[in-house]
Amino acid sequence: MTARVLVVDDVPANVKLLEAKLSAEYYEVITAVNGQQALEVAEAEMPDIILLDVMMPVMDGFTACRKLKENARLRHIPVIMITALDQPSDRVQGLSSGADDFISKPIKNNPLFPRVRSLIRLKMMTDELRARDVTGQNLGLEDLSKWEDSSDIKGRILIVDDQARSSARISGALNEAGHDAQVGEDAAEVLRLSKGGAFDLIIVSLSLRNYDGLRLCSQFRTAEETRTVPLLIIVEDPEDSRLARGLDMGINDYLVRPIESNELFARVRTQLRWHKYEEKLRHNLHLSMQMAVTDGLTGLHNRRYMETHLQILTARAKRDNRPISLLMIDIDFFKNINDAHGHDAGDRILKQFALGISRNIRGIDLACRYGGEEFVVIMPETDMAIASLVAERVRHYTETFPFDVGNESPVTMTTSIGVTSLARDTDTPETILKRADEALYRAKNDGRNRVSEHMG
Ligand code: GH3
Ligand code: MG
Ligand code: MG
Repeated sequence: MTARVLVVDDVPANVKLLEAKLSAEYYEVITAVNGQQALEVAEAEMPDIILLDVMMPVMDGFTACRKLKENARLRHIPVIMITALDQPSDRVQGLSSGADDFISKPIKNNPLFPRVRSLIRLKMMTDELRARDVTGQNLGLEDLSKWEDSSDIKGRILIVDDQARSSARISGALNEAGHDAQVGEDAAEVLRLSKGGAFDLIIVSLSLRNYDGLRLCSQFRTAEETRTVPLLIIVEDPEDSRLARGLDMGINDYLVRPIESNELFARVRTQLRWHKYEEKLRHNLHLSMQMAVTDGLTGLHNRRYMETHLQILTARAKRDNRPISLLMIDIDFFKNINDAHGHDAGDRILKQFALGISRNIRGIDLACRYGGEEFVVIMPETDMAIASLVAERVRHYTETFPFDVGNESPVTMTTSIGVTSLARDTDTPETILKRADEALYRAKNDGRNRVSEHMG
């Protein structure tokens, strides 16, 4: 995975060193010598990640980080703060300025590369989701470009550790910080717990006595409920070869014992923040996909969806030699209803009518709004005789139902329905829709409020 890394440090030797390390791993490196310049270069070059020194002239790393996170165009770029001393106070300040991670000098490859890789991976995934989210915004969904300041984000955390003192300490600290942390000791219990799908983060010790922690991580990664949940592992030794394997496998980050609480909070917070952001993006994506196939007024499927689906169902019915029928339903004199009661009343009636259709058909039938006051119902596994009975039921329901229009007394109306079925092997969605339309036209011509069949 190649990516563009912005290295910011006022000491040329430090820049050179990092540049050499990163280039050797085939990262593209760009540089800046202070916070101010970092902001300019970031704007111009849009890096995938920023390594930011704390102590710099003109503008220090904390200020630069805060400004990066305030900038809507740049805040999705992960920032790793490079702290000179292993000072907890630096870390706390770094986190409150919005940094995603921190590494202490002198920089070793071992903590550097996994963290860079893991944050770049998160960024690339959210970049992809964000690109699709633009469509969602056009559809009027919540704008997620304002990635809110979530410095105080809390989550449900599962800790998998069989060292009682250690797990009690970790869960105690997390609960005290406002998270909801729960400890699981054996693999079977943990896998059962995680099936509930309620966790925002899972922390796994790699030194479990009776189970391979990495195997557990891989099970979390493949299970539907935990596939996207961030995984943090705890290792005894940063040189443990399983660490590198775990990170390749998609583990998000790691902690080394003895675990320092500020570091624990920082890593937990970063993972929760990205995870919640990703969840929101996925949710928006889901909504925009729903909206693309749904009619906004009635909640029924829209015409485009119906046409695609009719194609599939017709092909299947032909292949299996099974019946399929279709109703085309049009409200009679709807224009008069609009004229008499207003367009809003008309809309209310259309909603109630859509609901009425849905209640008079089976679950496997597909109702859609075909156009203004015209609806189509596709009925798989249904022949003409049955379809005509259903059409008659819808006609009767419409004629007798008092449609609510708010203040005035209820409105009555009628509907005309054309019915047809798959009749021959050369039938296509177009020929079926055309016959249903012809049947509907006849129902209108014959006096409306009636069902008309077209055998084909
Ligand atoms: P017919 O019996 O021949 O079908 O008469 P009609 O008046 O129902 O048919 P026509 O096609 O002439 O008019 C349809 C009317 O439906 C016109 C339009 O104002 C109304 N309509 C279409 N879409 C909507 C909508 O979303 N909301 C409302 N309130 N009215 C709609
Ligand atoms: Mg009409
Ligand atoms: Mg019409």
